[in-house]
Amino acid sequence: MNKKRCAPQEQISFEQICRRHGMRVTPQRVAIYNELRSSRKHPSAVAIYTRVRKYYPNISLGTVNTTLLTFARIGLARVVESSGDPKRFDPDLNQHHHFRCVKCGRIIDFAYRSYDNITVPAEIRRKYVVTGKKVHLEGLCDRCKIEARD
Ligand SMILES: [Zn+2]
Ligand SMILES: [Zn+2]
Repeated sequence: MNKKRCAPQEQISFEQICRRHGMRVTPQRVAIYNELRSSRKHPSAVAIYTRVRKYYPNISLGTVNTTLLTFARIGLARVVESSGDPKRFDPDLNQHHHFRCVKCGRIIDFAYRSYDNITVPAEIRRKYVVTGKKVHLEGLCDRCKIEARD
């Protein structure tokens, strides 16, 4: 699903997208983006902040949070739907679905074509314009399932 994840041309497109939206490309923003891209965990702003702070000690959580929300607004990332509070961010823009563990909060990506092609109820189609379809599953992940059994 994600073979191109750290391909060099993505850095170029990051900068291009920022510029197109009038967002200056600063080293801090690049760092936030790189941390988000390299995480497979759908990190929260706090998780990104904890990492970026190691090399930019003066950065604030507010800045990280605002930057991530801006990334989501301009199409560089997505806010994970149904992730509750705090918001979780997803750098993977390819069509995929999520399984969320209600115990440990892990969000696991999966691809499933039948879900991509899921039928939209006629009533919704008549009233609204559907631009995306995502299936959100929740339950216990493999680790928590084992713990629950003990
Ligand atoms: Zn779990
Ligand atoms: Zn995801």
